[in-house]
Amino acid sequence: MPSTESYSTNFSELTRRKFLGNLLVRLGSLALGGKAFGSFTAEKAQPTHSDSHPLSGLWVSSAPAPAPAAPFPAPSLNKVPIVDTHLHLWDLKKVRLPWLRQGDPLCRDHLLEEYLREAEGLNIVHAVYMEVDVHDEDLLKEADYVLDLCQKKGLLVGAVLGGRPGTQQFAPYIRRFKDSPWVKGVRRIPRDGNTTVWQEKQFIQDIRLLGELGMCFDLCMPPQRLPDAIKLVDACPGTRFVLDHCGNADPLAFAASRANRASGPTESAPPPAGIRIPAGSNSLESPKPASGVSDPPDAKATGGSADNAPATRTPSHDPEQWRRDIAELARREHVVCKISGIVARAEKDHWKPEHLAPIVNHCLEVFGPDRVIFASDWPVCTRTATLRQWVMALKEIVRDRSDVDNWKLFYQNAVRFYRLGEKT
Ligand SMILES: [Zn+2]
Repeated sequence: MPSTESYSTNFSELTRRKFLGNLLVRLGSLALGGKAFGSFTAEKAQPTHSDSHPLSGLWVSSAPAPAPAAPFPAPSLNKVPIVDTHLHLWDLKKVRLPWLRQGDPLCRDHLLEEYLREAEGLNIVHAVYMEVDVHDEDLLKEADYVLDLCQKKGLLVGAVLGGRPGTQQFAPYIRRFKDSPWVKGVRRIPRDGNTTVWQEKQFIQDIRLLGELGMCFDLCMPPQRLPDAIKLVDACPGTRFVLDHCGNADPLAFAASRANRASGPTESAPPPAGIRIPAGSNSLESPKPASGVSDPPDAKATGGSADNAPATRTPSHDPEQWRRDIAELARREHVVCKISGIVARAEKDHWKPEHLAPIVNHCLEVFGPDRVIFASDWPVCTRTATLRQWVMALKEIVRDRSDVDNWKLFYQNAVRFYRLGEKT
């Protein structure tokens, strides 16, 4: 057991490293002018919070991202402001969600007021809406709903809308929003996790169009489909991409991997103590959810089920393959990684931060401190964790990184990537 003195030495060393790290990053930021995300030719203006209609905001064509210097000293982890870059909201009086099933806890309205109550005390200062896979005919209703919320100048400062790239309707649909300061991008989760559509000519053209309009595209698919994500990213060099939920990695895959390392190279070692294995499917096809449990769009994209009943299942993917594929995707500078979602695949009441750490740490390492952004995936995260539990778990995982790197993860990278208004 370490002595008090060695604790003290370690603490001083950590403090010294943090100080030097903050200083170097600040100097680097000043010298480089904040290069990340600044190389795209079409970028949207920051929301002006003017009284204009949400669809008639300003547009700038080639303004580089501002080059904010890191605050010095950077806020400590317990005081860091947070941008939640993946917040689902829905009002069932306004839109239909075909994936919702009666009896599921998610099968009710999820409004901003409830989120604000759950976020109290967490210092979440901005949020970006994430589409909720509405009925095809409700896409414009969804956009009206969320843009009206943005216009109210509250927490919501941007939106990633639903859309149907690959169809003839997509280009005129998305061009409606080309001048909106609030519309940041589009997400369309491939049906049943089947990403072959991403190789189709019309689909690629539509994703390139997003880049021309200054919008991004969210990649959300099963972890086994990361190679298809890489192909799409390579086909659209002028479009910025966001990888959702760490590529939907399965925490169980890493639990089994740890157990295998501990017990030798056996094929099917049990998970370590503290991890029980949720039921589900390792099929790429959308599994049939348990009775009364909806299969939300993000869960479908994992290739697993939303069902968390304790039972035995095999991990949905090979952890080493995921590590290699994520590292390969991270070599593309026009991709950022959303640190989110993985807790929803852990088992309710039994997961611990250490079960998520291998996934988070690998993403932080290969994408680097400038291309990772925090997200909650609320209310889907509430299947296994409250908003507060997820935020605190991630803070626990990253507590030894520098304050500047954590400020970038929780706040600054999102502000720069989405060009959010500076309100804090
Ligand atoms: Zn989500």
